[in-house]
Amino acid sequence: MILLPCPWCGPRDAAEFHHVGEASPRPDPRTADRAQWREYLYFRSNPRGWTAETWYHRAGCRRYIRVERHTETNEVRSSRQAGRPAGGDAADDARGAAR
Ligand SMILES: [Zn+2]
Repeated sequence: MILLPCPWCGPRDAAEFHHVGEASPRPDPRTADRAQWREYLYFRSNPRGWTAETWYHRAGCRRYIRVERHTETNEVRSSRQAGRPAGGDAADDARGAAR
């Protein structure tokens, strides 16, 4: 079982969430070419190790969170509201809550 620390609801079973995918920066629509959009939409790095992901808490607060998760051990070292920079408001951090 994977526990994800939701900043609003606390540690919850991953079955309550929808895995949106890797958190990758969106290309600038004013300057991006087709190859950049294709890369953004269809290709994932699928790393072995730490990765940043977006999850949607569909059975809870119905908010998007950004989680740093190890793909081999499923250890979670941080989570926060999606779209906010790391180290922002302390209330949005839930570091280590799922250990
Ligand atoms: Zn939640």
